[in-house]
Amino acid sequence: MMPDVTSESTKLRPWTGDRAPASWGLGDGQAIPWEYAPAPESREIVRLKERYGLFIDGREVQASDGAVFPTVNPATEDKLADVARATPADVDRAIRAAGRAQKRRWGSLPGRERAKYLFRIARLLQERSREFAVLETMDSGKPIRESRDVDVPLAAAHFWYYAGWADKLEYAFPGRVARPLGVAAQVIPWNFPLLMLSWKIAPALAAGNTVVLKPASTTPLSALLFADVCRQADLPPGVVNIVPGPAQIGMHLVSSPSVQKVAFTGSTEVGKLIHKATAGTDKAITLELGGKAANIVFEDAALDQAVEGIVNGIYFNQGEVCCAGSRLLAQESIVEPLVEKLKDRLATMRVGDPLDKNTDVGAINSRQQLEKITELVEAGVAEGADIYQPPCDLPDRGWFFRPTLFTNVAQSHRIAKEEIFGPVLSVLTFRTPDEAIEKANNTPYGLSAGVWTEKGSRILAMVRRLKAGVVWANTFNRFDPTSPFGGYKESGFGREGGMHGLHAYVRLEDR
Ligand code: NDP
Repeated sequence: MMPDVTSESTKLRPWTGDRAPASWGLGDGQAIPWEYAPAPESREIVRLKERYGLFIDGREVQASDGAVFPTVNPATEDKLADVARATPADVDRAIRAAGRAQKRRWGSLPGRERAKYLFRIARLLQERSREFAVLETMDSGKPIRESRDVDVPLAAAHFWYYAGWADKLEYAFPGRVARPLGVAAQVIPWNFPLLMLSWKIAPALAAGNTVVLKPASTTPLSALLFADVCRQADLPPGVVNIVPGPAQIGMHLVSSPSVQKVAFTGSTEVGKLIHKATAGTDKAITLELGGKAANIVFEDAALDQAVEGIVNGIYFNQGEVCCAGSRLLAQESIVEPLVEKLKDRLATMRVGDPLDKNTDVGAINSRQQLEKITELVEAGVAEGADIYQPPCDLPDRGWFFRPTLFTNVAQSHRIAKEEIFGPVLSVLTFRTPDEAIEKANNTPYGLSAGVWTEKGSRILAMVRRLKAGVVWANTFNRFDPTSPFGGYKESGFGREGGMHGLHAYVRLEDR
C-alpha cells in the first residue's frame, strides 16, 4: 500500500535543529527542505521465543538449576526473552560433548566432508539473513543498515571462506601436516555478536576442532539462532555448543583442563585475567582486545573522502568497535576546514530507532556502557577539551548517545588515552609525519590505524612505523575474511581471518 503522504507521520517537516550547516549554502537558521519519512524494518520475520535454552550436544536444554536471565532491547528497554543461564556443570557437559564429537567424528572427518557442512551453514545464513539482521539489531541496538549490510553478510562470508580451506589444509601449510587442536573455548563480546561468532567458529570447524562458545550476556540471541542453523545444517551433535551465562561461566570455560584452545574477544582487563588463567598450560590462546586507534589525515588528503572515512571510523556501530578510529590526528594546516566539514557532516547523522533503515547511530548496547561513555565525555569537558554535539532529538526510551566530537584535546586527557567504546571522536593535531607517528603510537594499544594522503610512498612509510595490527589507507573499518585481523601490545595477540586465522586452530607436524 502506498503511504498517505498527507498524514502527520509522513509529510515533510521542517528542520528542527539549530541551523542548517553552513556548507549546505542555505543561510543561517534557514529550514532544510527535507525530512526523512520513517522507514522501519518489520520485526515480523523474527519469531521470538519466550524462553531460550542452552545448546549442548545438538539439543536445546535448560540450565541444570533451571535459572534464566533476561535479554533486553537496548532501543526500548523492553525484555525480548528469557535465556537459560548455564551453570559450571552445564559448561562441563558442553565440553564433554564437544570432546566426544571431536574425537569420534569431526576430527577424523575428511576435510571435504567438513567443508560441506560449512558451506551449508554459509548458505543458511544467507537464506535467513533478514531474520538474523533484525534479531541482531533488536538484541544489540546496532542500526539495521549495518546488521543487514555488514554483520550478517560478513558472517556468511567467513563460513564460505573457511569452508574453502577445510579440504586444503595441506596447501595452507605446505610440507606440514595440520592437526586440529581439540576443543576450542570461545568467549565473545556484544558489539558484533554474530560476526564474532563466525570469526571464531568457522576456522575452528574447518580445521577439525569442536567448540563451546559463550556469547555476551546482553546479546545471546543471534548465537542461539545460530544453534538453529547448526541443527538445520545437520551438523553432528556436539560439534558446536552454546552456553550463555555470566562472566564466571566464561572463566570456568576457558580454565577447563579439557579445552585445548582459548579464543577471546573483549576488554583488555578480562583478556589479562584469561591470559593469567591459562598461563602455565599448553592451551593455544588468541586474545583480541581493546584499541584507541589513530586516524591520521595529512594535508594532501581528499578531505571530503576523509570526512566519510572518519565518520565511518568512529560512528559505525555507535563507536562500539575495538578498532574504531577514536583519535583523529589532523595535520595542523587543515584542521580547521576538516573540523568544520566534520561538524556539518555530524549534523546530518540520524540517531534513533535502530530498526529504521535511515538510522546512522543506533542504541548503546547497555545502560552500563552508556554510563561509561557519559562518564568519559564528562571527564573530557572537565579536563578542558571543547565538545561539539549536533542538535538532534534522542528517543525518550532506550540508551542513546549523540555523536560527539572533541577539539582542543591534549594527549594527557582521558578521552585521548582510554577506550571509550562509544560515538566520541577526539581531535588532535600534528605538524610532521614523525610527530604523527609518535602520537599515534603513544598508546598502550596497537590494534588499528588509518592514513589519509594522496601519496602512496607516504602510506608505505607510515605503515612501516605504525605499531598497529591493521592499517587502512584512505579508508577505514574494512573487513574481509581473507585478511588477518589482530593487535599488538594491550590489544592482544594472535590473528583472526585469512590463513593466519586458520593457523590459530591447528597444530603443525612434520610429514
Ligand atoms: P568484557 O570483556 O567484560 O566482555 C566480553 C566477554 O567476556 C563477554 O562474553 C563477557 O561475559 C565475558 N567475560 C566478562 N568477564 C569475564 C571473565 N572474568 N572471564 C571470562 N569471561 C568474561 O567486556 P564488557 O562487556 O564488560 O565491556 C567493557 C569494555 O570492554 C567496553 O567498554 C569496551 O571498552 C571493551 N570491549 C571491547 C571489545 C572488543 O571487541 N575489543 C568488546 C566488548 C567490550 P558477560 O557478557 O556475561 O559479562
